[in-house]
Amino acid sequence: MHELGIVFSVADKVLEIARDNDLTEIVAITMQIGEISSVIPDYLKKCFPAAVERSPLFAHTELKIEILPARYLCHSCGESFSLEQFKESGGCPACGEQDFLELLTGRECFIKNIEAY
Ligand SMILES: [Zn+2]
Repeated sequence: MHELGIVFSVADKVLEIARDNDLTEIVAITMQIGEISSVIPDYLKKCFPAAVERSPLFAHTELKIEILPARYLCHSCGESFSLEQFKESGGCPACGEQDFLELLTGRECFIKNIEAY
């Protein structure tokens, strides 16, 4: 479970931003997680209280998580498609290509924005 490490690095990053901007309270942190990233959103939320202990700035912080859908690009025909389409057809839904595919989005794990005073 590497979610704890992610939560700590997010907390450190947010504290750095808070220091640079003289923030006194972090209201919410919004993270974007790719649909097929190895990060499990529920674990992130479970681990978050451990990060909260790092600073009083986090006393009332809500962790929000947005899931980014995975999309693939087929380099044979130029079609882009979703994870569901990929699963259904076992490759590119337009031309059937299975190897010459590129994952465009879906592995993200980053801080989208911070609400703070
Ligand atoms: Zn194709």
